[in-house]
Amino acid sequence: MAHRKGARTNDEATPAWRLEGAFAPDGGKFYRALVENAGDILTLLDRDGTILYQSPAMREVLGYDGAAFIGTPVCDGVHPEDRERVRARILECAQKPEWISMETFRLPHLDGSWRWMEARAKNLLNDPDVGAILCVSRDVTEARRLEHQLQQAERLARFGYWRWVKGEPAPIWSEGVSKILDRSPRDMPRGGDWYRELIHPDDHDILLSKFLDAFDSNEQVTSVARFLAGDGTFRYIKTHAYAEADARHEVGALVGLAEDVTEEMRAQEAMKVSEAKYRLLAEQATDIIHHIAPDSSMIYLSPSVKVVLGYTPEDFAGQKGAGAFVHPDDLARLSAGYRDFVLSRAMLRFEYRFRHKNGHYVWLETTMRAVRDEAGKLTEIVGITRDTSERKKHEIEMMEARERAEAASRTKSRFLANMSHELRTPLNAIIGFSEMLKLEMFGKLGHARYVEYAQLINESGGLLLDLISDILDMSKIEAGKYELHREPINVSEAIGSALKLMYGRAEESGLALTTAICTGAASTVIFADERALKQILLNLLSNAVKFTQPGGRIIVGADATGSGIRFRVTDTGRGIPKEQIPRLAQPFEQVSTDAELAKQGTGLGLALVRSLAELHGGSIRIESEVGRGTTVTVDIPTNETPALFQAAK
Ligand code: ADP
Repeated sequence: MAHRKGARTNDEATPAWRLEGAFAPDGGKFYRALVENAGDILTLLDRDGTILYQSPAMREVLGYDGAAFIGTPVCDGVHPEDRERVRARILECAQKPEWISMETFRLPHLDGSWRWMEARAKNLLNDPDVGAILCVSRDVTEARRLEHQLQQAERLARFGYWRWVKGEPAPIWSEGVSKILDRSPRDMPRGGDWYRELIHPDDHDILLSKFLDAFDSNEQVTSVARFLAGDGTFRYIKTHAYAEADARHEVGALVGLAEDVTEEMRAQEAMKVSEAKYRLLAEQATDIIHHIAPDSSMIYLSPSVKVVLGYTPEDFAGQKGAGAFVHPDDLARLSAGYRDFVLSRAMLRFEYRFRHKNGHYVWLETTMRAVRDEAGKLTEIVGITRDTSERKKHEIEMMEARERAEAASRTKSRFLANMSHELRTPLNAIIGFSEMLKLEMFGKLGHARYVEYAQLINESGGLLLDLISDILDMSKIEAGKYELHREPINVSEAIGSALKLMYGRAEESGLALTTAICTGAASTVIFADERALKQILLNLLSNAVKFTQPGGRIIVGADATGSGIRFRVTDTGRGIPKEQIPRLAQPFEQVSTDAELAKQGTGLGLALVRSLAELHGGSIRIESEVGRGTTVTVDIPTNETPALFQAAK
């Protein structure tokens, strides 16, 4: 097995732990120490995926005793959702001698959690000394979590994304972009004349030349151009494009962000792109194994150092420490960590930049493990180093993209808040004065048409004011600036006052509006923001009225749930197709087939209900059946009433 002797020469394709030569002083013992003390898990599999050997690092990484799994199929432990993929990968690997493959999957930790592992497998079945598939696995859970958070942040910022690979005829558009443009992703042009199809004729030359410049100059370009939307109109789309260099620092693609207010699928698209990138970088990575003496001199270095850093192992013979190669900005942190590790710690992992033989810096991640004698004295250090430059570059890119997205989102919220304020003031004058005209407060207008027009101005002003208030509320919530003014509220009174405002509209639309408040709820006092609660009920009621045919019924209910109140608005209206429900509580989302009715709304109603409920620690649920009706339930927790308000209860 791992420590068996064999007469071989150094060869880059040969796993480092099998190598012997100038830097391997004592054959078997040496390799056993190397394998058993590596921080990553080394596993040997037979061609069916049965575990033949498991290194002791298993205990450190996953808490289990590796020896216990010998003789069992490796796939048994893998997360059920990843199992088939891993099984197929092992079978594929078993078919191809010397083949190297990379896979990420989940394994259980003794503490009950699932850990994401990144494993590199090499088929050495035909190697007479090994006769197995060798896997080196490491825990990448933290990196996956970071990636997921970035995706979430981008989803919240609602942007479109595109990538134009040099030499390809057209950019690849994320779904976010097609969404901004109201097109189906299949309608996005892909041919060499994409810009003629997509961009206003007056804009495409300049946009194209800017993009081409960015390919050459490596600088970020921002541009505004008119893009043709699915409905035949042009929209102004602002794109920030920047060049993306490959590992050789050559620009390989242009990447861009397009501003968006409705995008929600883009995150998935970005996820796919980033996963593909991770896979690519992982498949190209080659780990370096090193063995260091207590005085920091290099005893052994695997030949893969040539692939990653351009040096041969001999270049480091007798070298003490690697400080001279480490990036000056990383050196102090690294030296401090290393000193600490040598003195007392068992394991060290760090990321740093190392100077390649060609002069540029490469991001590396090294895991070191200290081997100590019984007295605790350091006897040797075993390390595994992986080239993480692609991953790092991608992380930095994502970080920058997120910062840009967040800055744009903050600007948008500030702009909306200011605009809404500026618009409200004149609107109030329009509404107030048209009201006076309508009522002919200071004398006759003279012609019935004038009264009618004054009424129209008044109604339109009212609608506009509602819309602006919704936008303002939404942008406040998104900017985290919406403050709740909680006070004790009696549930039936809150429902009563919302109903009072809706009876007129319900009657005009020929609808019966009734309540069903259970006794437990009627007397309950919740501690909530009165204006927000009223807005929740009014938004739900006005949707019910809007989407229910004359003759229908609307019931407003409330039940006590133990921890709070469940408000319910049920209608017998047109209903909502199942597949559309999940996206309706996002801002600006409407049922796509409701073209006529959609004009009467903005798609903000349900989004506000959801956000306001969530601000209270509550939630919203939409249940609906097409043609039968809709029930929207909103749970609002009672919330602890502070002593000050106890008397009011
Ligand atoms: P708006 O009503 O302003 O368009 P909302 O966020 O309140 O925005 O609603 C979004 C969409 O959800 C509506 O356009 C409509 O298609 C659908 N919808 C909401 N409530 C109902 C309901 N009670 N019955 C049928 N469809 C509804």
